[in-house]
Amino acid sequence: MMKTCEIPNAEQRQRISNKTFQGEFWKPCPGTNAPYYCCGYQIITPGTGCGMYCRYCVLQAYFENHGQTICDNFGDLEREIHEKMASRKGIVRFGTGEFGDSLYLDHCTEFSVKIAALLQPYNAVIEYKTKSTNIGNLSKIKDPGRVIIGFSLNTPAMIALMERGTASLDERLDAARKSVEMGFYVAFHFDPMFWYEQGLDEYRMVVRKIFDYVREPEKIAYVSMGGFRTMPSLKSFLKENGLHVPLFSGEMINGADGKLRYFRPIRTEMYRAMREEFDAMHNGITLYMCMESPEVWDDSGMRSRIPDGLVAYLDKRVDAMINGK
Ligand code: SF4
Repeated sequence: MMKTCEIPNAEQRQRISNKTFQGEFWKPCPGTNAPYYCCGYQIITPGTGCGMYCRYCVLQAYFENHGQTICDNFGDLEREIHEKMASRKGIVRFGTGEFGDSLYLDHCTEFSVKIAALLQPYNAVIEYKTKSTNIGNLSKIKDPGRVIIGFSLNTPAMIALMERGTASLDERLDAARKSVEMGFYVAFHFDPMFWYEQGLDEYRMVVRKIFDYVREPEKIAYVSMGGFRTMPSLKSFLKENGLHVPLFSGEMINGADGKLRYFRPIRTEMYRAMREEFDAMHNGITLYMCMESPEVWDDSGMRSRIPDGLVAYLDKRVDAMINGK
């Protein structure tokens, strides 16, 4: 039986500290290349850690410090972005949610407002990914049409089982609705998706629910999907704390990127169900899979969406959003 409420290092997770960040603030998403398709996302990191808790979060195995850290040298971040953008060609898709939740501390940091202003002169979008409803600062953003508020979604059963301190599904969707009303684009991320009894029906229900809240589907920038996959170090970390069940109770394979993942037929079935449901709700959603193999793109009926590749698919969508092309 899974223990649902325990949070490893719970006290540490709530600690917030400032730090002068060394090194690069802007890095490409660490997606491995072949045989999986990477989406070409670019990560800006103005802080690390998260005050919410998800059982599957790899950060708990990745960082020794489980607290939240905010960079106090935002000027260096600005300088780096200006320098690198000066020689950059083409559209750039940025996000800040790789090493923590983009909005959880936004009422303290205002990074959402500062980074949107920083990128405004460039051919770029910024996505803030969250499982919170901390959208109060967003109204200060001058040009919301170049900003995407990304909500990570899961089924109510999986949110209840795997997450603590995150907003409920309805609360996230309501925040998405409000974001659209403020003029932002929204994105939805079904990542990680879990394989469980009734799971497919419940994920389909979540897809339908999106359209109850977001009445202008053209304001959905894109939707991503990813079956649960992770570094083996997360399994070891959770095992030490007696929390690895049921996340790791089924059989998984070791992928070409060294990550544990579900067997291919399982992943394919989940993606196919989601594709069918999205197509039934609105035939024009930009839907993609994160770090999947060409075979899975074929088997799940997704291949025809990316005739020029995944990066071009998403660049084209963002170009249409911000440049009207
Ligand atoms: S909300 Fe995101 S960053 Fe925070 S614990 Fe969950 S997965 Fe990790």
